[in-house]
Amino acid sequence: MKLLSSLPELNAYLTPLTDQPIAFVPTMGNLHAGHLALVTIAQRYAAQVIVSIFVNPLQFGAGEDYGCYPRTLKEDCRQLADLGVPAVFAPAVAELYPNGEAHSTFITVPQLSELLCGRNRPGHFQGVTTIVAKLFNLIRPTYAVFGRKDYQQLTIIKQMVTDLYLPVTIIDAPIVREADGLALSSRNQYLTVEQRLIAPVLQQTLQAMAERLQQRGERDRAHLEQFAQQQLQAAGFVVDYVMICDPKTLTAADLTLQQPVIILAAAKLGQTRLIDNLEVQLANSVFGSGLET
Ligand code: AMP
Repeated sequence: MKLLSSLPELNAYLTPLTDQPIAFVPTMGNLHAGHLALVTIAQRYAAQVIVSIFVNPLQFGAGEDYGCYPRTLKEDCRQLADLGVPAVFAPAVAELYPNGEAHSTFITVPQLSELLCGRNRPGHFQGVTTIVAKLFNLIRPTYAVFGRKDYQQLTIIKQMVTDLYLPVTIIDAPIVREADGLALSSRNQYLTVEQRLIAPVLQQTLQAMAERLQQRGERDRAHLEQFAQQQLQAAGFVVDYVMICDPKTLTAADLTLQQPVIILAAAKLGQTRLIDNLEVQLANSVFGSGLET
């Protein structure tokens, strides 16, 4: 496996690959089974898989965990080599931001970026779209694989690709979870033993909301969201948001329509911010499904 650390190394690697499709998996490293599942999906699309490992300073706000974000390049490379990944692009910050703080061009997807996580993390999604656009331009992949775990990020990237006619197909990958339902995340390791026991309540709460929507036919969105907030608070979370959204616009879903919705949540346990989501098919509802019985 080639470890590419600079733009000249990347370009030299890519030159003979012209005309070969590349499947690209952008990550911030500290790889877990969720990331590796993305790699396995990428391998179905192209023999030439490139994984990037880059902790992008632009997407971290003041007071966030940029400084202490776990960096485990050696172990990450070992895992990727075991999977047969041919190349990893892991540049230093100065390589992608040679002008440092004076970096002057940004990609923004305004509306979607201001909702949900964007409310409490101003500039976060602009940081994500800017680095992803830069990486797309450098690597020129045919496919790029993103996890549904970061559903808002995935939606914003799809919007960017559509709006800018970027020549890449976005593939989305299902959420990989621990046995108790907690979505895998590099940030899970920040949790204390006690918090780790509480953490699955996030997913359980979303499941309980889905059950109320699907089995009990509840359609009072505000009431369901309030129920979830209370469940999470009672377990010890400080809730950022729990919202039942339209899967495309990420705005409040109209539950009178027989259309799929997505429940999105972000909540903190101590200093650790966890996110999760669950898609729900309202058409399967026992009540008001519109189906003849
Ligand atoms: P990150 O390293 O956190 O920036 O994540 C890199 C990619 O891995 C993103 O597309 C994430 O959505 C995806 N990812 C992270 N955790 C998971 C997970 N538990 N299941 C599926 N995809 C994930």
